[in-house]
Formats: sequence, structure tokens, C-alpha cells
Amino acid sequence: MGGLGYYARARNLLACARVVVAQHGGRFPESEGELRALPGIGDYTAASVAAIAFGRSAVVIDANIERVIARYRLIETPLPLAKREIRAALAPLVPEDRPGDFAQALMDLGATICRPRGPACATCPLMTDCRAQGRPDIERLPLKPPKKAKPRRHGLAHWIERDARIWLVRRPGKGMLGGMRALPGGDWTDARPTESGIAEVDHGFTHFDLTLKLVHRESRDAAAEGEWWPISDLDAAGLPTLYRKLISKMLERDG
Ligand code: SF4
Repeated sequence: MGGLGYYARARNLLACARVVVAQHGGRFPESEGELRALPGIGDYTAASVAAIAFGRSAVVIDANIERVIARYRLIETPLPLAKREIRAALAPLVPEDRPGDFAQALMDLGATICRPRGPACATCPLMTDCRAQGRPDIERLPLKPPKKAKPRRHGLAHWIERDARIWLVRRPGKGMLGGMRALPGGDWTDARPTESGIAEVDHGFTHFDLTLKLVHRESRDAAAEGEWWPISDLDAAGLPTLYRKLISKMLERDG
């Protein structure tokens, strides 16, 4: 479950409950501002809880609502800059009466009618005054931000073999692939290593691409913790995809 944010959610939930007890007498505050001040509650959750749970007239914006309003008002500024215009366009439309139902109806409209691909304008209740309706390029709204090229990093992984086993380590607890079993190797940096390798893979992470090169090493770092793992049983090592790809490339080559 690591990396999916569940631990942070659990911590925030507890911290939030403590603040609700200590500062609000055990009752959730009802205003958007007070809700946003609670641990783990951002703009979207504060507005949703205020509108849906407490009937407050809050401006709720999720990705579905963002799309509906960007099209309905033909907002052609790319995200995330468009967010401010979308909020300004939506705010005067939020009713005093049943703002929670209004927010949920807009979310449903976005999910089922004003879909990212193939919006069903003919059945849309907003059709008569939607500014995007009838345009051939509706699907591109809301405009995405221009794509930034991801930086590329480079790293070495060490293949240290003895008696049909290879030396595996655990990655540091913090950082990419934290705590997972891995081939040993140095840090991932911007510099491309000059050493020639026995295999190489490219792997895309969310924020960067990595080229990892596999090189032979005769002996392991005596101080490092790790284990000798049978090459014939590498499937059971639970290695991350990156290392599995690299090893299978090398084994194919030797094949
Ligand atoms: S008319 Fe079409 S583009 Fe406009 S809000 Fe409805 S589904 Fe979306």
C-alpha cells in the first residue's frame, strides 16, 4: 500500500479528529473556512462538506465540474490558470437552496453527459445556453497545460554473482521505491555514466525518466546489508518492475 497515500490519510484523519474534539467541542464546523483549517482538508473537501453535509452555499469544483464549466462558459485559458476563471464563472450559479444537490448534479452531469470524450450535448440540460455546444473541438476543453519535458536521470545497477546467486539489497526507506528489494548501485543523477554496461533500460517515473545501466562487479561492498538470492528464483524476490526489466534484458542477451 506504500505510495498510495493511505498512511498520510490515516494520520490526517486522526489529527483532524483531535482538532474537532479540542477546538470544536466534538462537532464538525460547518463553514468552508473553518473546515479548510482542519488537518488534511483542502479546498475541494471543505467546499464539498460545507455544501453537501451542511447545506452551505459553497463553490465545489472537482474535475468533472471543471470540465462542465470550462465548456459551458467556453473558457479557453489552459489549466491550472483556468481554475480561477472557472471558479468565478461557477460562483454566481450556486443556489442558496440545496447547494449540495447542485454540486452533485453538476458532478453527475460531467461524469455521464459532459464526458471528456464524446459529450452527449443533445441530452444535456445546459444545451440551450452552453457556449461550447455545437463546436467541433469541445473535447479539448478544459485546455491542458502545455506538457513539460521530463528530466532524465541516470543510474548504475550492479550485477554481483556468486554460486548462481546475485547480491540484492533494500532501497532506503525514503525516496523512490523506498524499502523495496533492488540490485545494489549508486544514486540516480543527471550525469550519464561512461562505464559500459551489460544491459540498459529506460523507465518512466511520474516526475522523471530514468536510464539504468547494469554493470558487472566482482565483489560486494562488505559493509552493505543485503542477501544472496538464487538467480533461478528471482521471481520470488518481489523486485520492482524497473529491476525486473533490466534483469530480463540481461538474461535475454545471455540467453
Ligand atoms: S451542452 Fe455539451 S459541452 Fe455544453 S455542458 Fe452540455 S454536454 Fe457539455
